[in-house]
Amino acid sequence: MPELPEVETSRRGIEPHLVGQTILHLDIRNGRLRWPVSEALYGLSDTPILSVQRRAKYLLLELPTGWIIIHLGMSGSIRILPEAVPPGKHDHVDLVLSNGKVLRYTDPRRFGAWLWARSLENLPVLAHLGPEPLSDAFNSGYLHARGAKKKIAVKPWLMDNKLVVGVGNIYASESLFAARIHPDRAAQSLSIAECDTLACEIKAVLLRSIAQGGTTLKDFLQSDGKPGYFAQELQVYGREGEPCRVCGEPLSATKHGQRRTFYCRHCQH
Ligand SMILES: [Zn+2]
Repeated sequence: MPELPEVETSRRGIEPHLVGQTILHLDIRNGRLRWPVSEALYGLSDTPILSVQRRAKYLLLELPTGWIIIHLGMSGSIRILPEAVPPGKHDHVDLVLSNGKVLRYTDPRRFGAWLWARSLENLPVLAHLGPEPLSDAFNSGYLHARGAKKKIAVKPWLMDNKLVVGVGNIYASESLFAARIHPDRAAQSLSIAECDTLACEIKAVLLRSIAQGGTTLKDFLQSDGKPGYFAQELQVYGREGEPCRVCGEPLSATKHGQRRTFYCRHCQH
């Protein structure tokens, strides 16, 4: 599933190809995605793209009259291609540009979304989202205040979009290991110093992923390219039983809800 770093990598990849270009129209070959493709997008034509932004895992194309909101779902990806490249079976949407290129949306499981909104205010999919993890608003004071009286384990707490967006399963395990915090700890038990370490490590893990994604941008943009997924060197995720890279003891795994959590019982307290 595309996580925040992959979506940000995609945003950075498409931005220089879209901003300042004009959308001629959209070719919507299959509009039955997670939600039906917005009716307004079928009639969109001759519209400049002002900016390419991101909120949580939504890509936001700013137009003079509103916003195209794209979500990659479970298996979606986007590429910039010459319009002449024939679409494949799972290429459901093309954004056709005035420069002879298309932004092509591929999604085998069709769990993504292409929506239209005149304004981002009060938009249901964006309402109630917590701060961006890379913003200044996400810091030790914020985490400590929000954790007060919360008995929930810190791992699933971090994955709640209402607390902070974009900390998926991999990044929650990895940042807790980096902060040496046990994933079963109650949120309310974190000291302000631990919140500081945790906030910093979450930012660092995400920034490393984005930086590594950046190195694959060239591949990502090629016509046969996979989306900007990248093999970050994972410290704990998926490594149950393998030696901890810090202490050498075997790593452990547990479950929070339906999600697997990986950690080191010697290094994380
Ligand atoms: Zn260890």
